[in-house]
Amino acid sequence: MSNIIHFIKELPSLNNVDQYGVYPLSLNHFGHLHVFMIHEGDQDFLIATGIGSNQFQGELFQEGEYSYVKAPLNNNNANTLRDLFPFTKPIPVLSKLRSFGVGDRLGIATEGHIRVFKDYDAYPILAQQSIRELALTNRTYKDVLDAASFSVFRDGYKKGFGADGDHLKKPAEVEMALNLGFTMITLDCSDFIRNDVSNMSKDQVNKECILEEDIKNRYLTHDFEVEGMKISFDEEELKRNVLVYGKAIDFAVQIYTDYFADGKTDANFEISIDETATPTTPTQHYFVANELTLRGIKLDTMAPRFCGEFQKGVDYIGDIKQFEEELKIHAAIARHYGYKLSIHSGSDKFSIFSLIGKHTRGHFHVKTAGTNWLEAMRAVAATNPKLYREIHKYALSMFEEAKKFYHVTTDLTKIADVDTLKDNELVDLFKQNDARQLIHITYGFILNAKNTDDSFRFKTKLYDLWREQREVYAEMLNSHIGKHLELLYSGFEK
Ligand code: ZN
Repeated sequence: MSNIIHFIKELPSLNNVDQYGVYPLSLNHFGHLHVFMIHEGDQDFLIATGIGSNQFQGELFQEGEYSYVKAPLNNNNANTLRDLFPFTKPIPVLSKLRSFGVGDRLGIATEGHIRVFKDYDAYPILAQQSIRELALTNRTYKDVLDAASFSVFRDGYKKGFGADGDHLKKPAEVEMALNLGFTMITLDCSDFIRNDVSNMSKDQVNKECILEEDIKNRYLTHDFEVEGMKISFDEEELKRNVLVYGKAIDFAVQIYTDYFADGKTDANFEISIDETATPTTPTQHYFVANELTLRGIKLDTMAPRFCGEFQKGVDYIGDIKQFEEELKIHAAIARHYGYKLSIHSGSDKFSIFSLIGKHTRGHFHVKTAGTNWLEAMRAVAATNPKLYREIHKYALSMFEEAKKFYHVTTDLTKIADVDTLKDNELVDLFKQNDARQLIHITYGFILNAKNTDDSFRFKTKLYDLWREQREVYAEMLNSHIGKHLELLYSGFEK
């Protein structure tokens, strides 16, 4: 008799679950239907047994009076799972007090992320990917969502998670993500934000922007006060704001009206104005928030671009005092208009997390992505030095090409030569900013590198290794992302 049949026979007593290759926390029931997940060789499968098991697509096994369906982890079975067990389906989480985005570009990080969020009341966005990340990882939004659903099912995470269509720029992208059940859209307005205005002379500004009477009345006749802080506009500044953000505001209104207004969807709406050439001043933030509100837009979160530099995968660079002063006002404006601040490029910003927790009074959305990939590569450095060295050298060779897509100040000469490092010193590279950024920005190149026979040069080996070392990766994420949360929480009283 097969192991699974043994397990099914013992189901009523629920003893010795893990002895049969069953993930112990995956056992769930829907009426007389029992569903759980097993690992077999290097693959996971769903097993469904009892009344309704035919809802899953897969191979039917029968022994005597017992039968079960062994179902592969595909989109169809993910949909069935989400229908039967609502905890595997994403929910809108931005409206909760605290939320935290953890990009899982590789589709393997959720196991580690879940460990973190078992300990914190912040809601995780487990599925979160931009269109660019999809292209570089050859994944679809279906893959991203399914990977999250299967992971929460396997690991018994039932507290709820979100799914973020991150940095979407086109109506069709928004529509696709919402149709697939994503519960949050991050609308990237950067195509409509003018970056040339800060360099324009007063004359040019006057020539390009003629203010209508109502907007003059709205902003120039009085000052504004937010939590005791004064915000005021002069005519030139107002014109500059109109020029920089006018089209972006129209775009946001359009998307909101088409996809969100009047309960069209049960998803959260975030506006990102962070991918711009200059930081968002508090006055600009106020202007955008006020205009959107007047036009009936209900934001859940907004991501301004803060002063200083939020480079990928390294700590905050800049004047922390100034950051804190501006953060106070940004947070107050967000509270005033009833949404949360969203902090993008939040990976590894350890020196400011406590301030973010403090000045948002614990109401924040923080987004990370690249750091989860870096931890995956750190796991490679820790467990397969030979493969890591090869990838590291390849990354060095692709760095100039990769740099075109990112703003980083990486100095390759500061990175130790991997051939002179002992095996057990390789992980220390991930403590060094230049090495972090090298591996961070070359992820697309690393994953897509091909051999002459068109097979993947690293990708297959990497996934095999991550599968083998899943416990190592999960624990690395648990402690690394956990450190983010710990510092954020240190800033406020629960
Ligand atoms: Zn962003």
